[in-house]
Amino acid sequence: DPAALVQVLFSLGEMVTATQSVSDETLQLLGAELDYNIQVVSPEDEDRELLESFDIEYGENEGGEEDLEARPPVVTVMGHVDHGKTKLLDAYRHSNVVAKEAGGITQSIGAYQVATEVDDRERKITFIDTPGHEAFTAMRARGAKSTDIAVLVVAADDGVMPQTIEALNHALAADVPVVVAVNKIDKPAADPTKVRGQLTEYGLVPEEYGGDTMFVNVSAVTGEGLDELLEAIVLTADASLDLRANPDMPAQGVSIEAHLDKGRGPVISVLVQRGTLRVGDSVVCGAAHGRVRAMIASNGELVDEAPPSMPVQVLGLTAVPGAGDTFLAVEDDRKARQIAEQREARQRAAQQARGARRKTLDQIFEQMEKGEVQELALILKGDSAGSVEALEDALLKIDVGEDISVRIIDRGVGAITETNVTLASASGAVIIGYNVRAQGKATQLADQENVDIRYYSIIYQAIDEVEAALKGMLKPIF
Ligand code: GDP
Repeated sequence: DPAALVQVLFSLGEMVTATQSVSDETLQLLGAELDYNIQVVSPEDEDRELLESFDIEYGENEGGEEDLEARPPVVTVMGHVDHGKTKLLDAYRHSNVVAKEAGGITQSIGAYQVATEVDDRERKITFIDTPGHEAFTAMRARGAKSTDIAVLVVAADDGVMPQTIEALNHALAADVPVVVAVNKIDKPAADPTKVRGQLTEYGLVPEEYGGDTMFVNVSAVTGEGLDELLEAIVLTADASLDLRANPDMPAQGVSIEAHLDKGRGPVISVLVQRGTLRVGDSVVCGAAHGRVRAMIASNGELVDEAPPSMPVQVLGLTAVPGAGDTFLAVEDDRKARQIAEQREARQRAAQQARGARRKTLDQIFEQMEKGEVQELALILKGDSAGSVEALEDALLKIDVGEDISVRIIDRGVGAITETNVTLASASGAVIIGYNVRAQGKATQLADQENVDIRYYSIIYQAIDEVEAALKGMLKPIF
């Protein structure tokens, strides 16, 4: 009984309300007081335990030193807005990835590989195709380490800006070495020396000044310095990282992008991190499973095998997992299905637990009326894991001040279903559909239950409207 728990917490000196979240320590304190042994388990720990029960160790190379082979570095491009991250990624994609698909247009699969020559040896580099530290950190928050090296892009005419430092801090927090691309050196106002001086103040000392960070002057527009930047990435990897993996084990990796394709079904981009993924493998990714029907490389070619650090698009899964979900090949279909089912059961239980808490919605409304809390609950549905994540990130960043906030109670890829509407109804939430529609009787049910469904095809429009709604919730000033 929440009210009773609040009282016990009060006696322990913790002033909380029934709808408030408490820290792990407070939970443990509460457990001790009531003679319960409370264990706080992260979803990642829980999943690792699940996999262990199937004799799978996720995140480890099988075998010993002798089984490890060099693998290409995986790179994320970060930096301040408009400093040229997208342009840089485009430049590499177009110059080094041979378009093989009809019409010469290569579909982005969320990451791509380029080849460069260093010391007469061909070396590959894998670029994650989503610029910015948001996706990088969102994945890391889910326990997936997907990046080996961060390329920090700084426009030489603009210099170090707030998001440059923010990106740098994210890279440092993840213990990822940084290579600095001093971009836009074709511009007359470019001052690459100033950029070096500025970053030195933040602990990134250029090699030419005796430090250990490589700075490369580039222009994503003219192409100047782009080969040197690739070389710097390879050299930084060789100098400070031991990038090796066992290619000879069942594949393990992480999903970097997933969406539902009308003709092909669930399409999942996977970064293979250990082992080799092959067509025909039984696989599980998040709560989705299946057998690899086909694999498409970043140059649009069909491939039969994907070794460590290679990104591939995988067809043949039963459902669309989330970005950042663990991906693994297992012995057989049965094992894949069992793991997926257990994960799904767990997700459902977690959702139900959230639902149970929602019974106290009356209390929240009461508090809202009293002006204690005000929040707008949302359910997000979109056409791809990436777009849902981007939307969620942006919505959570809306800040209208006061005590008003956005809470995302559920999210997912695909059409808006009756289950979504039921949940929205039970929790007074608004449903946001991004490039998706309502399915079956969902619209009818929403009318019946007075649930507001809003459709958008432009992220900014969704953000603007939610912001306006939040402002509408602001207490009128008399
Ligand atoms: P992002 O926000 O960091 O992804 O930046 P963009 O890649 O979208 O680039 C922002 C603007 O700067 C675009 O208009 C680009 O064409 C331009 N730009 C990017 N790199 C260069 C460069 O090396 N030289 C010049 N002159 N312009 C560039």
